[in-house]
Amino acid sequence: MDKLLTDPRNIRARLAAHGFAFSKRLGQNFLADSRVPDIMASFFDPGQAVLEIGPGFGALTAALCEVCGAVVAVEKDKRLLPLLKENLADCQNLTVIEGDALRLDLPSLMPQGLRPAVCANLPYSVTTPILTALLESGTFDPIIVMVQREVALRLTACPGTPEYGAMTVFTAMSAQCSVLFDVPPESFIPRPAVTSSVVRLDSLTFDVGMQTLVPTALRLSRAAFAQRRKTLGNALSAGLALPRESVTERLKAAGFDPGARGETISPEGYLSLARFFTP
Ligand code: SAM
Repeated sequence: MDKLLTDPRNIRARLAAHGFAFSKRLGQNFLADSRVPDIMASFFDPGQAVLEIGPGFGALTAALCEVCGAVVAVEKDKRLLPLLKENLADCQNLTVIEGDALRLDLPSLMPQGLRPAVCANLPYSVTTPILTALLESGTFDPIIVMVQREVALRLTACPGTPEYGAMTVFTAMSAQCSVLFDVPPESFIPRPAVTSSVVRLDSLTFDVGMQTLVPTALRLSRAAFAQRRKTLGNALSAGLALPRESVTERLKAAGFDPGARGETISPEGYLSLARFFTP
């Protein structure tokens, strides 16, 4: 990757020449540390087509184009398109699409014949809806994304910890998540207020029987976490609009204490509980 793409003086000068001002709303913190895009790209190979959401100034895009079969980059800010065209003029395997990643059918953008994957430094304000859409699509493997460290902790949290919640359970239903490395604020311009982490999500495949339990397990976890302070019995009764006695009976039959809190139940626990709440 051309080191000029992460050189702070070059980035500022080129952006100024285009009359560009950073947008906080669009989460525009561009990478200014050449090691980070190179390391993120090193997890991919020529058999993969990689979707990047928010190419920005193009540093990660350029690194990905060097190692992947194809790169599809979706950028919402149309002011960045002329800059991307100049910065990535040599990338023959790149398609840049102007658009909002939240409104596009992302799987349909990927070329045939290559394994679809995702690599991105996600805009912070839309991290959760974008990750949710990517995981729900069941198309991309792996998904390697930079997120706020706080989000990374939530994605990988253990039951019983304050970070453990509905997003942890949702993620665990479709992927195995691990934190690859942290990235300090100094690695970006402008500097964000918080540390970032690069996380890797590898698709999980359940057998058909288990897969059919996933929607119910998610409903149960959402109901439990919607009222974190309540006991599991009370939270599920309120969240699922079921009589308290019926919930207590089902929890006991499944081997769970109705007085426990939802935050102590593991993702596997919600799956086994789902057998007793599936119509
Ligand atoms: N990839 C670049 C990098 O690492 O230096 C820029 C990352 S910056 C954190 C996020 C990028 O996502 C910005 O370029 C921003 O304009 C873009 N963006 C924000 N919301 C978006 C959306 N809904 N769809 C597509 N791109 C978006």
